[in-house]
Formats: sequence, C-alpha cells, structure tokens
Amino acid sequence: MIVSLNTQIFAGALLGAVFGLVLGHTGLSPAASPLLSGLDLLGKIFIGLLKLLMVPLVFTSIAAGIANLKHSGRSRRVWPALILYSLTTTSLAAATGLTTMNLIKPGEGLDIHLFKASAPHAGTAQPLSADNIFVIIVLAALTGIILIVLGKKGEPLLKIVNKVFEFIMRFISIVMRLAPLGIMGLLAGLIAQAKLSLLYVLGKYILVVMGSTIFHGLVTLPLILWLAAKISPRLFFKAMKEALITAFATSSSTATLPVSLRCLTQNVGIDKYIARFVLPIGAVLNMDGTVMYEAMAALFVANLCQVHLSLPAQMVVMLTAMAVSIGAPGIPSAGMVTLMVVLQSVGLPLAALGLLIAIDRPLDTVRTMVNVEGDCIGACVVQRAAGN
Ligand code: ASP
Repeated sequence: MIVSLNTQIFAGALLGAVFGLVLGHTGLSPAASPLLSGLDLLGKIFIGLLKLLMVPLVFTSIAAGIANLKHSGRSRRVWPALILYSLTTTSLAAATGLTTMNLIKPGEGLDIHLFKASAPHAGTAQPLSADNIFVIIVLAALTGIILIVLGKKGEPLLKIVNKVFEFIMRFISIVMRLAPLGIMGLLAGLIAQAKLSLLYVLGKYILVVMGSTIFHGLVTLPLILWLAAKISPRLFFKAMKEALITAFATSSSTATLPVSLRCLTQNVGIDKYIARFVLPIGAVLNMDGTVMYEAMAALFVANLCQVHLSLPAQMVVMLTAMAVSIGAPGIPSAGMVTLMVVLQSVGLPLAALGLLIAIDRPLDTVRTMVNVEGDCIGACVVQRAAGN
C-alpha cells in the first residue's frame, strides 16, 4: 500500500508530538534519546537541503515567471489593470494578516530556547550583501526583463532558466520525502520543551490565520468585486462554487484552473480570452491567501522567538512575501518553500518550518481557495477595466 506524503507527514507530526509530550513529561532532554537525536539530525538535514535550494529556486522562478509573461499579453489595457489589481489585493491581504497578528499575538510569551538561540539577528532587516535574498530577487527580476527585451535572441537562455526551475522543483519534491521524519524529530524536540502549551498556541495560530483568510475572502475581495467590477458577490459565489470547492480539495490553484475557467466563462459570462489570460497568470502571480499567510507566519515565528518585529521589519516581511509569491507555483504547500525567504529576510530561524509544515494542510486548503477567488475576481475587474 502506498501512503501519500501528506498522510506520512501527518503521522510523523503526530508521532513527534507524542514523543515530545512523553519526553517533556519524564523531564528527559531530547538529546538523551539516541532515536530523537537521530531524527533531529534528519530534521536539520531536511531544512539544510531546502535552504540550499532556496536561492536557485527564487532566482529561476522569478526570472522565468516574468520572462514567460510576455507570451500571454493580449491587450495593452489588460496588463496595467491586472498588475494594479494584484498589487492592491495582495497588499490588503498582507496588511490584514499583519494587523490581526499584532492584535492577537498568538505564540507570544511561549519560551522556546531552540528558536531563540538560533535567531541571534532576528527582528532586523538583513543588511544587503551578495548573498542577501533581496539582491537575488532584484537580479532575477532584471534577468526576466532583459529576457523579454532580448525577445527571440533570449529564448535559448529562457529555456535553460525554465529547465533549471523544473529541476529544482523536482529536487524539492525528493527532499520533501524526508519531511515526515524530519518533522517528527523537530516537533518532538519542540514539544518536549514547551509541552502542551505549544499545542494550544498552534491551535490559536491556526484559528487566527483561518479567520483572517476567510475575512479577506468574504469581505475584502467581494467588496472589490462589487465596487470595481459591479458584480454581485452573491451571484459570483453561486457561479464559482465548483471552482472554490476544487481549490479547497486540491490545495492547488493550478490544478483548479480548468474548473475556474469553465465557471468564469460559462456561469459569470467573462470573455474567454480575458479569462484565459488572467487566470493562468493569476495562479502564479496573484496569491492573496499565500501572501497573507506568509506575513502572518513570520510574525508568529517572531513571537515564538520572543522578538518584536518593528514596523520597518514588518514592511520588509510584507514586501518580501509579495515578491516571493510571484515565484510560488500554484501547487500544494508551495508557500512553505517561499516562506523560507520571508523568514530569512528578517533573520528568523528556518527551523520553525518543521512546525509550520506540520500544520500546513488545513491552512493550505483555505488559502488556496482565497488565491483562486482572488484570480477569478481579478478577471472580472480586468474585464470591466478593459471595457469589454
Ligand atoms: N497551495 C497554494 C496554491 O496552489 C500555494 C501555497 O502553498 O500557498 O495556490
């Protein structure tokens, strides 16, 4: 019988929690258990490998993402409308997430030495240096633009960039096979220290993230739909029901594309060229749920490390989340990989990923649904802006 990776991760997380609780209860340090120190090592290798892949992933995905866009341009008016829409909704999403986190502060007051020790520079935007991720993002964006300018001459290079991107995604899926064991070790160590209070804090965090994501999906986006596209949100939700359920079930905006396309053109009456143009780009470029999630996750990790992220640092988090979401493909848990970049941008420990991946399934379902909703509303807004 083949057990899916998600089930394995879930089982690993569950076992890790049980080990952690038992060890925490008996007062043994995780290092005292050879089994756990072995698993902890696996966890470190797992995070180390992901970290290694981060730079080439960010570079190739942003460069290729921008360069590939040139093929999809149909109308001059569509582009600016789509970019303006995307910038508005993703920044609103990040701002909502950050505000909720600043108000509710899940994770604050919980003492996890493991995180604190590994985050000596946390809370400050990392100074620019050659290996700084911002330099990579800017270089990648420039490369993408140069590839567009080069046109036909740039095609061989674009092919290579696309191939490297595919290779890295493949590599990441291989590394993810280590996730169940790595997460088991990381969680056991964390829970042994923080005991049940960590589980309580995680529950609170899940509720806060879901609440804000649902708020964005049920209040902010419908309001934009109503104001900018003059479409009734009630009719929109009725027409898009199937696509939203598919997004929830698959946790992949890319996999949902055919369903969203059909619902938008047949039920909402969106021009098929506009829908075909906006949706695939939106599935990659415009991810409200993911941007909001990454901003919130960074603040949550900061709370766990007991560091306060200043307003400028929170702005860095927001802008980085918006920038890297361009590179996140619309597949399950893609946001976890780009989250590394967001954590890194303000010096937060990547070890926190073990914890976040363990609870990502329920959160991914809701944020993917909002990602898809945002893309579909984008198509409605763009259609109105293009005067169709
Ligand atoms: N699963 C999301 C999507 O496909 C991406 C993410 O992990 O945030 O839209």
